[in-house]
Amino acid sequence: MLDVTAIRKDFPILSREVNGKPLIYFDNAATSQTPKQVIDVIVDYYSNYNANIHRGVHTLSQEATDKYEAARKTIQTHFNAAKSHEIIFTSGTTHGINMIANGFASLLKEGDEVIVSALEHHSNIVPWQMLCEKTGAILKVIPMNENGELLMTAYETLLTENTKLVFVNHVSNALGTINPIETIINKAHEVGAAVLIDGAQASPHIKADVQALDVDFYVVSAHKMCGPTGVGVLYGKEEWLNKLPPYQGGGEMIAEVTFEKTTYADLPHKFEAGTPNICGGITFGAALDYMNAIGFDTIASYENELLEYATAKLLDIDGLRIYGNSNQKTSVISFNIGNVHPYDIGTIVDKLGIAVRTGHHCAQPIMDFYNIPGTVRASFSFYNTKEEIDIFVEAVKKAAFMLQ
Ligand SMILES: *Cc1c(COP(=O)(O)O)cnc(C)c1O
Repeated sequence: MLDVTAIRKDFPILSREVNGKPLIYFDNAATSQTPKQVIDVIVDYYSNYNANIHRGVHTLSQEATDKYEAARKTIQTHFNAAKSHEIIFTSGTTHGINMIANGFASLLKEGDEVIVSALEHHSNIVPWQMLCEKTGAILKVIPMNENGELLMTAYETLLTENTKLVFVNHVSNALGTINPIETIINKAHEVGAAVLIDGAQASPHIKADVQALDVDFYVVSAHKMCGPTGVGVLYGKEEWLNKLPPYQGGGEMIAEVTFEKTTYADLPHKFEAGTPNICGGITFGAALDYMNAIGFDTIASYENELLEYATAKLLDIDGLRIYGNSNQKTSVISFNIGNVHPYDIGTIVDKLGIAVRTGHHCAQPIMDFYNIPGTVRASFSFYNTKEEIDIFVEAVKKAAFMLQ
């Protein structure tokens, strides 16, 4: 059981007011809030051991290095990576995807095929389009149905011996659909293709085991799982990371530099050029510790309760349509009411202290599929409550009444 009253006390922001009302934060799919246990780590870093890592012999540098590498180990354990050097620190999901797309530019040739899904965030579409432009590889798309689920039979027919790479999100940020990534990975491996899973939206709800999944690459952002912005990780299988060229050149990623020839550092440093977000990396570790202390099963089952509760209540509103009705969903509800513009609903509920997202959610192809400009998206975290949902539903009713 989750003690939500106690948990809410960990999050200072939840006690502030917005427009004279207590904040109700339902924009968790865009970024999550930060508990004081994690904020304390940021304060501690800058107050006590801020220093550049891996190079200094002095004490502060060693302390910072030790904590940064300890965070890498925490992240390794969380995702059950076989080796800590398979965990590469990035600035976030987008950075991790671009690293791999850039790396594959040297491995793909004209006529090779790569597969994306209809359910992707723009950051898991555009880098691959750029890759195809560079290499002449062909981009194919797994279609979806009205419920917001991928058509797996269609996926199987897209796979050929020319398929080199498949990239799909674990959970859709726009609809909340949990994709059957085990099957996606297994089928891709049958034709020898590598698989990248965008775990940005799944990671706050589902603890992915990269070895059990046998996934080749898994990318996440810390800021969606109670950590800071500007940091994330790319998990990559050692054999792939050895095969791919580095993304950026610079300090930290070299073994030896002369003007004739430079040799690259071993993993993970080969992919970590320049001074990283040291505090961010350490804080990401603390955020995982915080969430694991609560437990991902506990988090998921509570969030699922919130999802079911809010879905039933919202569907009672006349003319309200929910987009994304898979029975495999995280706590994301995307909806519209009649022809009311989502932006107008978002603006009215903000006046009542409620934060939701409106728009295309960086997933325009999904909006095009439903032939809508966007949706209102409410996304719940383990620190939200049914009482907040009640207030939200009343606010939506009020907005619908005013706007129709
Ligand atoms: C948030 C999100 C991203 C982008 O993450 P950044 O932290 O902005 O790099 C990519 N894919 C999905 C599914 C997301 O939810």
